[in-house]
Amino acid sequence: MKIIMLGAPGAGKGTQAKQIAAKYEIPHISTGDIFRANIKNGTELGKKAKTYMDQGALVPDELTCDLVMDRIQQEDCKNGFVLDGFPRTIPQAEALDAALTKIGQTMDYAIDVDVPDENIVNRMGGRRACLNCGATYHVVFNPTKVEGKCDACGSDTVLRDDDKPETVQKRLSVYHDQTQPLIDYYQKQGILKSVDGTQPMDQVFDAIVAILGA
Ligand code: ADP
Ligand code: ADP
Ligand code: ZN
Repeated sequence: MKIIMLGAPGAGKGTQAKQIAAKYEIPHISTGDIFRANIKNGTELGKKAKTYMDQGALVPDELTCDLVMDRIQQEDCKNGFVLDGFPRTIPQAEALDAALTKIGQTMDYAIDVDVPDENIVNRMGGRRACLNCGATYHVVFNPTKVEGKCDACGSDTVLRDDDKPETVQKRLSVYHDQTQPLIDYYQKQGILKSVDGTQPMDQVFDAIVAILGA
């Protein structure tokens, strides 16, 4: 099963993608997580990506596409994968389609987690991330057991630099300009499914399972 998660920053793509990956036993591929791991490890890619991410801008397609194409051709992706945060532009979607066509495959589902902008600002302000293991929490909706410490690995949880209010507004406008057109793109391909992302997390997941099959 090959799945794309669509939705605004903070809509809950990562939260749902992790659960989908666990239930359907497919890898969760998050371009944001890959970039953050590169930043943490001080790689050349990380240095380049950081300048864009800090401003709430998208990392250029040239730096993003090859990375994902390599990743989805690895052995663990042969039964499918869930893409979280990719594609984010029409050229990225076209690159993905072209790479899959070459190997005689197509994507199965594009799931749009629909959350209006008003809710997004609260979601992102309350998001706390573990930079060690990638776990995500929310101070109100999904708090850690011990304040400021990751449940999974015990490291500190932080407010991401790009989750500060100034950057969130910028990311939302980038989303509307560059990523939202993908909804139409996948609608035309006949693989778009929408879920109401304002529901509690487990209800959103139930709605997704109803689409993908139990
Ligand atoms: P969120 O989950 O809040 O939407 P992500 O972790 O997916 O955030 O992405 C964080 C940042 O990483 C983005 O704002 C962008 O700068 C960069 N990024 C992630 N995925 C992509 C992509 N597919 N194309 C370009 N930039 C990306
Ligand atoms: P995305 O990957 O789309 O940027 P996340 O999965 O990181 O979004 O979720 C953004 C924030 O909102 C996190 O703090 C997460 O714990 C919280 N969150 C996710 N889904 C829900 C939900 N259905 N209701 C309330 N909060 C949620
Ligand atoms: Zn952790």
